[in-house]
Amino acid sequence: TVCFVSLDQQGSMAVGTSTSGLFMKHPGRVGDSPQAGNGFYVDSELGGVAATGLGEDMMKRPICFETLHLMQAGYNVQEALNKAVYGFVDLLGQRNGQVGEFSYIALDKNGNYACATNVDFQFAVATEKEEPTLYLAQPQ
Ligand code: ASP
Repeated sequence: TVCFVSLDQQGSMAVGTSTSGLFMKHPGRVGDSPQAGNGFYVDSELGGVAATGLGEDMMKRPICFETLHLMQAGYNVQEALNKAVYGFVDLLGQRNGQVGEFSYIALDKNGNYACATNVDFQFAVATEKEEPTLYLAQPQ
C-alpha cells in the first residue's frame, strides 16, 4: 500500500491509500486500505492517519480512528499512535501468538508527524520549507 497524509496552508487535511491488496488474496477480498478507520482516517480539526501491512490483522481494530480519538483526548500525535499501535500489537501477540507486519503514519493539524511500526519502515516527509526527506522508523 502507498499512503499519504497531507495538510495544506488553509489547514485542510487529506489522507489517501492505494493498494493492490495482498499477494495470493482471495478474489473479492476487501482489505483494510479502503476502510475508513482501519486503513485511514482524517479529521482536519485533529489530524490524519494511514496504514500499510497485513490487513487481516489490521482490520481487527480501527487503529487509525483510535489514534485520532486518543489525540482528541490530549495525547500528542506520537503518543497517540504508539498507544494505539503498540497496544494492539501486544494484544494480538497475547491472543494469537503472532502478529503480521504493519506500519502507520500520522500527521496532526499543526504539522507534527509520527510513525509506529513493528517492522523496519521508511517514510517520507515534505514541507514547503523542506525537500522530501526519507526517515527510517523501527519497531519499539
Ligand atoms: N494493507 C493491504 C491489505 O491488506 C496490503 C498492504 O498494505 O500492502 O490489503
